[in-house]
Amino acid sequence: MIIKNKKGLEEIFEIANYLNNDEKKIVKKAYEFAENAHKDQKRKSGEPYFIHLVETAKNLANIKMDAKTIAAGLLHDSVEDGVATEEELKKEFGGEIAFLVDGVTKLGKVRYQGMKRHNESLKKLFIATSKDIRVAIIKFADRLHNMQTLEHVKPEKRLRIATETLDIYAPLAYRLGITTFSKQLEDLSFPYVYPEAYEKVKQILKIRKKQSVYRLEKVIKSIKKKLAEKGIINFITTYRIKGIFSLYKKLKRKKWDLNKIYDIAAVRIIVKSVPECYQVLGIIHQNYRPMPGRIKDYIAFPKPNGYQSIHTTVFTGDGGIVEIQIRTEEMHQEAELGVASHVGYKGETNKDAKMDWFEKLTNIFKSKKEIEAENKKIEKEKITWIKELAETSQETKTETKLDTELGDDFFEHRIFVFTPNGDVIDLPEHSTPIDFAFMVHTDLGFKITGAKINGDFKAITTELKNGDVVEIEFKKNAEPNLKWLNFVKTNTAKRKIKSYFEKREK
Ligand code: MN
Repeated sequence: MIIKNKKGLEEIFEIANYLNNDEKKIVKKAYEFAENAHKDQKRKSGEPYFIHLVETAKNLANIKMDAKTIAAGLLHDSVEDGVATEEELKKEFGGEIAFLVDGVTKLGKVRYQGMKRHNESLKKLFIATSKDIRVAIIKFADRLHNMQTLEHVKPEKRLRIATETLDIYAPLAYRLGITTFSKQLEDLSFPYVYPEAYEKVKQILKIRKKQSVYRLEKVIKSIKKKLAEKGIINFITTYRIKGIFSLYKKLKRKKWDLNKIYDIAAVRIIVKSVPECYQVLGIIHQNYRPMPGRIKDYIAFPKPNGYQSIHTTVFTGDGGIVEIQIRTEEMHQEAELGVASHVGYKGETNKDAKMDWFEKLTNIFKSKKEIEAENKKIEKEKITWIKELAETSQETKTETKLDTELGDDFFEHRIFVFTPNGDVIDLPEHSTPIDFAFMVHTDLGFKITGAKINGDFKAITTELKNGDVVEIEFKKNAEPNLKWLNFVKTNTAKRKIKSYFEKREK
């Protein structure tokens, strides 16, 4: 096999400079294989299809994924869109890479119907389908390049793809802590989904950026000096500009009052240790007056997605206000890459990446008590995002105790069933159409009279199976039955039925 386009491979290796020679061999082999599998195939843009695979691989290298994941990124369309077969892949690259490619293909079939209410379930389905979290990561890298080339797609398809990216992919990448991806995915979708707001925010950002960058560079220079005076020399300073979509969300929250937004640009100080973080905070506060109420210690109190850092907003003395973020290198890595840094490149040993991530996480939650007793290392593995993912929507969260919700529902196995429109509803195993109806809408639960499962009439107490399509029959004047309590599995249904009868007795 001859490599026709060596440039792509060199570009991948330039980014994935952390790979050793054996690992590079795997990537090179996948590169050649994919180039052959997509020979003569073109993308909508007229470019060779193969470019899509090189770009996907580069996206994966950018977040420091291991060689097998990069290889799978190169191969991810070779069965579905190229001429290769699953058997060939398995034979050439072994089970693990073939498994990753197969997962990406399956994930491509997860249906998105655009109903905001069911987005949480769809996210869970996405993760459950992934099995190995690297599958989801490849899918993000794939989607990222598709978004970068979205202008070549038919106009009527653009909005659907961009909305899906904004509703599902970007928030999920964010939950997984892969902010490098989520930021790009959001910013690329934004102009398609909210074109007017995009233009407005773009103008704001343009003006603010110029002012901020000048001031930031000045502040960084002065901070460097102050830190050196106190003997802190081993640190990195940098700044980041807020993503345009993230700015838009914040502007909406602050009723478009630009004066209430201090973090359009922020200084970052990356140090070696946690004590140094607090030391740096002290030095900064001695030299710049901090703004009251703006000191946030996410080291002591990490964000739900695991984010750690100290934020403070200070007056720069020349009429300016600047946000400063202080963190260790590990925290920085975690903040940018999140889960990808756990399953990504680990040098010679890469054991973690081989685990069944989803299973592992659910197991971890099952034995929460044991884990608390164990050491900090395992404690750290209790990734917060899946916990958040496990929580049902905001509204259910406020009305139920989290403990029961997590204990009784989520940590049991879940099934994913569909409405006739293809919306996905996730339920605990052994759930019934009654549970399903209550998950769709409280009133539907109260008024249910019958159910069609996969087109056939079934008792409303029938146990549902993964993938069932459920259609609920209801009557306006129907009433719930106390006996249902013997069949329902979800806390939501139990609670609502009980409260219905409590109210009626009164
Ligand atoms: Mn693709």
